[in-house]
Amino acid sequence: MTASGRLIVVSNREPYIHERNKKGIRCKVPIGGLVTALDPVMQKAGGVWIAWGSGSADAETADERGRLMVPENDPRYTLRRIWLDPKEINEYYYGFSNRIIWPVCHLFQEKARLETEYWETYKEVNHRFMEAVVEEAGADDPIWIQDVHFALLPSALREDLPNNNIALFWHIPFPPWETFSCIPWRKEILGGLLGANLLGFHTASYAANFLNSVRKEFPEAQVSASAIRYDGRTTRVRPYPIGIDYAGYRALSEKESLKRRANQLRSKMHVQHIIVGVDRLDYTKGIMNRLLAFERFLETHPKFIGKVSFIQVASPTRSAITEYRDMKREIEENVGRINGRFQQPQWTPIIYINRSVPGDEIMMLYRIADVAMVTPIIDGMNLVAKEYVTVNDNGVLILSEFAGASEEMNQAIIVNPYDVDSMSAAIKKALSMTSEERARHIALLRGIVKEHDIFWWLNTFLEDWGVELGEGEPAELRLMAGTEPSRRSRP
Ligand code: UDP
Repeated sequence: MTASGRLIVVSNREPYIHERNKKGIRCKVPIGGLVTALDPVMQKAGGVWIAWGSGSADAETADERGRLMVPENDPRYTLRRIWLDPKEINEYYYGFSNRIIWPVCHLFQEKARLETEYWETYKEVNHRFMEAVVEEAGADDPIWIQDVHFALLPSALREDLPNNNIALFWHIPFPPWETFSCIPWRKEILGGLLGANLLGFHTASYAANFLNSVRKEFPEAQVSASAIRYDGRTTRVRPYPIGIDYAGYRALSEKESLKRRANQLRSKMHVQHIIVGVDRLDYTKGIMNRLLAFERFLETHPKFIGKVSFIQVASPTRSAITEYRDMKREIEENVGRINGRFQQPQWTPIIYINRSVPGDEIMMLYRIADVAMVTPIIDGMNLVAKEYVTVNDNGVLILSEFAGASEEMNQAIIVNPYDVDSMSAAIKKALSMTSEERARHIALLRGIVKEHDIFWWLNTFLEDWGVELGEGEPAELRLMAGTEPSRRSRP
């Protein structure tokens, strides 16, 4: 493998966001696996990260072309911000990405709003990003596109960049063709993706669903078990289960201050058992059925009444969308109903937290919980499952068979998230396990998370893609180049 050029990354969210508050401008780094993994690579190799400039002070911290060097205190690579107006944000992001692609790929076709304006704006925004990539990329630069927001980009880039190595990772499930085909623009979306040299999905079954959709929509394509030959180009299609920063989470969980705070919290909660659920308040996460399973558990095992509390973090998300507001109301009504039914003066059955909880508090909840219930109706991967077994030394993971994580973590207590009775039985089973059984259970699952961590994901992807990144140029040189973007020679 020979060293490739600089890496060009395209994602919806940016790795550094400038926000203005009363005290002035603050630069925030979003928490999340992708930035954790890719930012060090970009810092080492140099390159350009192109993303929507969504921060309130993003424009005043970038130059007139939306460019700045990051990180601020040690500039290493270029962040190129793309500006979107409110209509574009509404139609490309909330509309096409969150109200069409998201529900359809999560098998909720009935929630899809198939509005033509969403599609038109999605095309326009993809075109805008395409122009930015063409401006930034040299002929040898590999281009790594992230997620469903840019399905049209790989093919759109081919006119100007016919020979660049282009990859895209699809961060959510890919559904069976019968589901995907409800999208009127399905052929354009699949055709857009076929401009890539490599397409990554979380699991083998999502990759297989994609290949099958291409077979149906492009009968003239040659489709094998892991590649597509179409229009003179080969697109490889492979699963890469994303992981977490295992070592980082282990180090955090070993911090004495965290342990102390967790012990204090645990001793203040006068219950024998704690179950935790941590999710964005999304209809894919199966929160409602999980609450019903907990209710069924208390109903059928009354000796646990007063002895077990369920902490559900349901952090707000996409609340501009009606379906999310309706679901919130339904969940909150049921929390009230179940608590009203079982509550005692000294004990609350369900502790419901409807705000975004900072990472260190999530760690504390993981540490004090005897059981984590990760029971989405469907989920691309689900990182909470991986974080919990990394942080808790003696707990039990109840995991939905429809979370991507269950393909690897099949040693968890696997449940069908539609089946309330079986989830109630799983709670009973988890709470009945001995300390030795729990320690073995965690050790097995932890081994998997450790082996396939976020850096394994990144390196495996880059290796398969044939991209070996060298050391970047010294920062000063890149800063000079940064004033005049290095344009490739156009055909
Ligand atoms: N998370 C958090 N605070 C919250 C809720 C969630 O920090 O209030 C974190 C959680 O620890 C995990 C991520 O958000 O790292 C959720 O990732 P996951 O893959 O489980 O679901 P997604 O939200 O990406 O669908």
